[in-house]
Amino acid sequence: MAADSRPPPRCPVCRRRASEENRPFCSPRCAQVDLGRWLTGGYAIPGEAEDAQRIDEDDA
Ligand SMILES: [Zn+2]
Repeated sequence: MAADSRPPPRCPVCRRRASEENRPFCSPRCAQVDLGRWLTGGYAIPGEAEDAQRIDEDDA
């Protein structure tokens, strides 16, 4: 029936539309970032704005 009613999946890393090749991520890079989070238990990944803010506060 309404097969097109589902919204496209979103990249959990940057919230962009996921690509067919890399879903649920938008790119191999975001897949690496997500994998890194699991491996490091939430350790700050270079390039993540949220983590950068934490570091900035802690540096005061
Ligand atoms: Zn992404």
